[in-house]
Amino acid sequence: MEALLSVYRSTFKTKLRGRYITLNMVRDVLDELNSDFHISHPGVSENDQQIPMVKIGEGPIKVFAWSQMHGNESTTTKALLDFLNFLQHPESYEEEASHFKKKFTFCCIPMLNPDGAAAYTRENANGFDLNRDAQDLSQKESQVLRKIFDSFQPDWCLNLHDQRSIYGLKEGNPAIITFLAPSANKEKSITPSRKQAMEKIVKMYHMLQGFIPNRVGRYDDDFNLNCVGDTFQQTDTPTILFEAGHYPGDYQREKTRELIFLSYLSFFGLLDDKVEAKTCDTSHYFNIPENKKSFLDIIIRNAHFGKEKALIDIGIQYEEILKDNTILFTPKIEKTGKDLALFGHNEIDVVGDELLINSHKIADIGVEIKSIRRNGIDFTEDLLKN
Ligand SMILES: [Zn+2]
Repeated sequence: MEALLSVYRSTFKTKLRGRYITLNMVRDVLDELNSDFHISHPGVSENDQQIPMVKIGEGPIKVFAWSQMHGNESTTTKALLDFLNFLQHPESYEEEASHFKKKFTFCCIPMLNPDGAAAYTRENANGFDLNRDAQDLSQKESQVLRKIFDSFQPDWCLNLHDQRSIYGLKEGNPAIITFLAPSANKEKSITPSRKQAMEKIVKMYHMLQGFIPNRVGRYDDDFNLNCVGDTFQQTDTPTILFEAGHYPGDYQREKTRELIFLSYLSFFGLLDDKVEAKTCDTSHYFNIPENKKSFLDIIIRNAHFGKEKALIDIGIQYEEILKDNTILFTPKIEKTGKDLALFGHNEIDVVGDELLINSHKIADIGVEIKSIRRNGIDFTEDLLKN
């Protein structure tokens, strides 16, 4: 698979980089696609931006995928466009690409929420979370998605998202990628479509173990019919939620992007990653560790402040702020306390040294860290280098 990754990096990977991905950037990539790809615009966003849709292949199995339903979740979009690029320029993977086109009809919406993408918000232009609008269909973007679902009548749905860096798994491992086979009812029963989704997830999970062992998780499966995945699963259409998460040190999510790309290939059976059938049953799905909110970006352990005797831990989380077309990662104090029972992607034990935060002998929740001194010496850069 190393050979594949090297061709991926040199050929399939589009020019898009980083977290801020807008509709114009997506369009630039779609403009480069050849006539094998059918591009249409099934509707507009609340701010009247045309939402593009791509169709490729003429096979019997219909797969429908949509990404960036949450505007600030662009990693799966980058990987999806890389995947379209792979189908267009397969290089030494000609056979796989032609196999794909014969077996599948693939329909995808790379960016369902272009207004949210422009503003770098989860919600759309009206402040709605589209993933809670599956029943009301009050927003134009939700209506577009539902319209395509109804007319295309997919055999599979892929609901593509990013998750925050706060998620971890057991033993202090970060949740770099998380999957969910959404429930189709309150009882969370294993309906035929849900079972199929679980089996595919297990397959991708096993493939990913070769790259990020014990760092792939399973999302909480509480049923909520306002969520799109649950609604589609309820129609007996196997549906999989992908959550691209934080790979330590990779705040631009370029590593996770590669792993998501590989997951798409695995989903479509284009990788040489055959998993023994017996490992693909649903019990293996439930053996995948469950996501927990157990991480912060940075934890400083055992800090000493002014006259306070007790040592405290300081948990810091980056706030993502859009400025001049880039995303700034602004460190803010999220939590403080003795022996914080959380993990930091970056942990520093200052072993009782005295800290000054923004020249103050105190660590208040919500404060943005502009400077930090340890025993009088500036260590802001050391602390904030990812
Ligand atoms: Zn999301």
